[in-house]
Amino acid sequence: MSTVFGCIADDFTGATDLAGLMSRSGVAVRLRLGVPSDPPEETDAFEVIALKCRTSPVDEAIAECRAALAWLKAAGAEHFFWKYCSTFDSTPEGNIGPVAEALMQDLGTDQTIYCPAFPENGRSIYMGNLFVGQQPLAESPMKDHPLTPMTDSNLMRLLAPQVTKPVGLAAQRVVAQGAEMLRSELTALRAENTAHVVVDAVADADLETIARACWDMPLMTGGSAVAMPLPKIYVEQGLLPADAPKVSAPDLPAETIIVSGSCSQMTRAQVADYAAKAPSLKLDPIDLAANGVGVALAWLADQDLTKAPLIYASAEPEQVRAAQQELGTARAGAVVEDALAQLVVVARTQGARRIVAAGGETSGAVAKALGISDLAIGAEIAPGVPWCYATSAGHEIAIALKSGNFGSETFFTDALNALEAS
Ligand code: ADP
Repeated sequence: MSTVFGCIADDFTGATDLAGLMSRSGVAVRLRLGVPSDPPEETDAFEVIALKCRTSPVDEAIAECRAALAWLKAAGAEHFFWKYCSTFDSTPEGNIGPVAEALMQDLGTDQTIYCPAFPENGRSIYMGNLFVGQQPLAESPMKDHPLTPMTDSNLMRLLAPQVTKPVGLAAQRVVAQGAEMLRSELTALRAENTAHVVVDAVADADLETIARACWDMPLMTGGSAVAMPLPKIYVEQGLLPADAPKVSAPDLPAETIIVSGSCSQMTRAQVADYAAKAPSLKLDPIDLAANGVGVALAWLADQDLTKAPLIYASAEPEQVRAAQQELGTARAGAVVEDALAQLVVVARTQGARRIVAAGGETSGAVAKALGISDLAIGAEIAPGVPWCYATSAGHEIAIALKSGNFGSETFFTDALNALEAS
């Protein structure tokens, strides 16, 4: 046997989210940060390749995803998954649609599905409209996202300008009738040349139906939750052994660093909760751009890392807009990401072996700076956020990469507690 299922994720937190949910079923899931330079070995595993291409120029994102696809094919995978955020983070240029079309072309397939629903985290899709909790996407805090503000809630309308082929919908009333009915609907849509099918899902039962109807498609696309039932289906089909060796937490010293570059409403609440309990430092992008990271480095040098200090740039939408007006959106983001990544590397030099990063782009920058390439999936902190174990500069570390909106208000203390308990 060899790798049976290959996933490509558009950011690192999305990849740990996906790998964590799939490993809930007990199958082996391997996570790689970036396309491995080594040729693949034969493994009985689900493979996830994490890229950092959510906001890259479209051509770069397509090239990276194609390289990941080629590696996964060489590893033996026959079915593939393109994972993006459960809030469909993208712009009219992409990258969700253009990457899907490029992967479809390479796989010689003429249809795929789009299902970012994650009911456990409050993301549901009805009549192709995405809801975050009780709010339509465009009325949710995602309207203020620094890089991919979401100003429409309708997934067909969001996707249409990103692709060249027709977009359609498989509605909840079809999904509710089961996998066979959904398969028939997809076949009917294919006969009308509908290449891109948004699929409604409001509950885990819908995701199970969708996974059962679509598991053998060459390419599925969506959030992590629709992939959650797939390992069980592969085991049932005899394509994957169920008895994956359990990953145990390495015995790590208590030194910890927490960084946050996410400006999501949930992360801001998490930062406020944690800053009231532990040492914390707020970074300001305008100050960083003018004066560099020296003040933060001096602060860090004075910290007792066993107290798990927090460094953050997370700010209210007005502050984010002010920094973006002064520096430009890309530069404001890059200044923060570079600073947090540099500070985490210094903290590791100071002995930090437990690392928490909040924010998708932020986590990508941090993981890259730490030179991490392979991750084992450990204890789940919150739905979609597992602890991961890795090696950085020859040291064993535990690292949690949190997507902006995930976790409850006590996430940072929950993370520290989950590692102690594992
Ligand atoms: P999320 O998971 O919430 O989307 P990300 O880390 O992916 O978080 O994105 C947040 C972006 O906002 C990053 O590029 C980060 O560097 C940037 N950012 C963080 N703080 C600020 C700030 N105060 N002003 C402007 N941009 C910021």
